[in-house]
Amino acid sequence: MKDQYGREINYARISVTDRCNLRCRYCMPECGVKKIPHAEILTLEEILRVGKIFSRLGIKKIRLTGGEPLLRKNLPTLIRELKNISGIEQVTLTTNGVLLKNFAPELIAAGLDGINLSLDTLDEKIFEQLTRRKFFKEIISGLEILLRENLAIKINCVPLRGVNDREILELATLAEKNFIKVRFIELMPIGCAINSGLRGIPTAEIFSELEKKFGELIPVHKKNSLQGPAKYFQPKNFIGEIGFIDALEHKFCGECNRIRLTAEGFLKTCLSFDNGLDVRNLLRSGVADEKILAEIRETIYRKPREHNFGCSTNFQMYQVGG
Ligand code: SAM
Ligand code: SF4
Repeated sequence: MKDQYGREINYARISVTDRCNLRCRYCMPECGVKKIPHAEILTLEEILRVGKIFSRLGIKKIRLTGGEPLLRKNLPTLIRELKNISGIEQVTLTTNGVLLKNFAPELIAAGLDGINLSLDTLDEKIFEQLTRRKFFKEIISGLEILLRENLAIKINCVPLRGVNDREILELATLAEKNFIKVRFIELMPIGCAINSGLRGIPTAEIFSELEKKFGELIPVHKKNSLQGPAKYFQPKNFIGEIGFIDALEHKFCGECNRIRLTAEGFLKTCLSFDNGLDVRNLLRSGVADEKILAEIRETIYRKPREHNFGCSTNFQMYQVGG
């Protein structure tokens, strides 16, 4: 469906849990977060019901996220069932990769179309400082498994001044000999990022560092309307691509095609605004799908024109899944 500004909304990010096995400094406090009681989190059946309603409204791509989505029980079953919904063309996953080596075969067998692996550093010590956890080796094993599979893989890296700035070239090199996309994502001033003392690095700086090393970054044009806001480039000798997502420097709100559903079933239509729809309440109130569909349609229609990170949002990244 189109929203009030004529944007085609075809992409939903669904958070399946708010729990996580890492404590990335820009995302979660060291002590973790107050756990939402299980009863308040959407069941797999409820997520599927919403998935079916989403598909009737024109959603074609679903990304499962969290918290850490691989902590959610029966995730492969959910993927398989979402893939079975008519109109859903792609189901993908964003993960920190800690549990990938245990689950990769099952996820692939379930029909997963792609994985975004968040990996900010290739240095074990820096990883432990940034995530406050010792799971670096597990993640690298998971990545090695993925690289052997025929699956769309994106590596997401948040460049941070004084933390991983010396590794940008090494991370980008992963796309030189592998058919993957390595994406540099600007640090957003949300939740823990605000008081973490961490500072992002402007995309222009990363871009020029990469061009100095690899030569001209040749733009790769968008392949379809389901593609997100990343802008992709390919240095001459690369088989993979390098992407940039800089929501603050370049607003891409005019092309935004996405909505987000939190693990508790709250529908958010813009990352930086708190308004939306309590879908869980509707799901559990006994009303028919038609009523829920109408409310979701109205909420999507009213999606804000553009983000405003100057406004404070009560939502954290681990709730809305990035
Ligand atoms: N736990 C999973 C993971 O880390 O991939 C999925 C959820 S996590 C919230 C999704 C993405 O959000 C990660 O790639 C993470 O780096 C990114 N993220 C979290 N906080 C951020 C912030 N303040 N600015 C930019 N990206 C952020
Ligand atoms: Fe967990 Fe992902 Fe947040 Fe890191 S970014 S704390 S892995 S939810």
